Amino acid sequence: MILHIIRTLGVKGGVGYAYEYAGTTFEQMTMEERMTVCNMSIEGGARCGYINPDQVTYEYLKGRDFAPKGEDWNKAVEWWNSMRSDADAVYDDILTFDAAEIAPTVTWGITPGQGIAVNEAIPIPDSLPESERAIAEEAYRYMQLIPGAPIQGTKVDVCFIGSCTNGRLTDLREAAQFAQGKRVAQGVKAFVVPGSERVKKDAEAEGLDKIFVEAGFEWREPGCSMCLAMNPDKLQGDQISASSSNRNFKGRQGSATGRTLLMSPAMVVAAAVNGKVSDVRQLL
Ligand code: SF4
Repeated sequence: MILHIIRTLGVKGGVGYAYEYAGTTFEQMTMEERMTVCNMSIEGGARCGYINPDQVTYEYLKGRDFAPKGEDWNKAVEWWNSMRSDADAVYDDILTFDAAEIAPTVTWGITPGQGIAVNEAIPIPDSLPESERAIAEEAYRYMQLIPGAPIQGTKVDVCFIGSCTNGRLTDLREAAQFAQGKRVAQGVKAFVVPGSERVKKDAEAEGLDKIFVEAGFEWREPGCSMCLAMNPDKLQGDQISASSSNRNFKGRQGSATGRTLLMSPAMVVAAAVNGKVSDVRQLL
């Protein structure tokens, strides 16, 4: 969803502004899903991303380490409720999306704004606004992808599920649902890196690690890992990764010619199982 929003507004769409997300789709999201959207607002140029606090927020916070307790909790909820945007708040701009029409989105280029639906073709230069053509030309050269070709079916070498953006418990639960009973394609290196030590422990308590390992993923220690090519987690040469991280800049994953396709954790599972960019809806 956030890749679709950034694709629509561009990586500079939010410069000088804050993004506020509202509507039934965001209301129904878990807190962790909301965090993914807000985290990536920065990739859309915004100063921050914000969703009004509600019952989902409070249920997520209540009882956590460092959360207020007892009467302090009630005061905190009252204060947080007072922060909610007024019903008649005035915004600099409002855009409306129909979530039902957003297909799983994948980046094809070298910025998080160069994304397309998984069933779309890589844009041809003439279809792009003049202001986007130079960076698109740079992306075609770097990514070795052909304008007009479908992104679906692009072979991948490495599949990475993790990062602060998409390495939370609900991300891993969703990815595990798709990985269960499947097998990583031959020749593909696939690994899962929980976002924190707590996520790792909680995921292991639910047996998610076993599901991933049985499917052929490596289950790793928490950290940033391949989001930024930490330690040995680097692409080699011009390998292509399907990555649930948040940045696809040139060289981001450790090789000066390495290529990154951003997508959701569930889409990374689909890529790992098929060895190529695939529509996760077909794994259902
Ligand atoms: S390098 Fe680490 S903290 Fe930075 S975006 Fe990636 S996972 Fe998050």
